[in-house]
Amino acid sequence: MQKTYHGSCHCGAVRFACEIDLAKGTSKCNCSACGKYRFWKAIVLAPSFRLEQGQEALADYQFGSHTIHHRFCKHCGAKPFGHANVQELGGEFYAVNLACLDDVTAEELAAAPVQFEDGRHDHWDRAPAVTSHL
Ligand SMILES: [Zn+2]
Repeated sequence: MQKTYHGSCHCGAVRFACEIDLAKGTSKCNCSACGKYRFWKAIVLAPSFRLEQGQEALADYQFGSHTIHHRFCKHCGAKPFGHANVQELGGEFYAVNLACLDDVTAEELAAAPVQFEDGRHDHWDRAPAVTSHL
């Protein structure tokens, strides 16, 4: 069921809201960035995401192909979301860090299906051999 969730960074400078249907799936990737962030995400298209506060607190980190803007709070370091514009993924989208949602329940997170992506080997369409550590 699609629901509105509210999220924030750790210090609260950055606040956002988004519509997510957790039953449609979440994902974890083993790429060099997601592995270090332990990033567990849900993808939402731009119209379903609103930054409510903290544009000035958001730093932008990019690497590799510079496709994705990895946004993080310059005060507390939390990474509430990334965003990019990739036509194959439906255009402008946000990768929301589920760990930064403030009003999701543990039960909702535990019930959300997780798809694993082998980003470390550029195979986002399949799971890596080992996933239990992600
Ligand atoms: Zn912060």
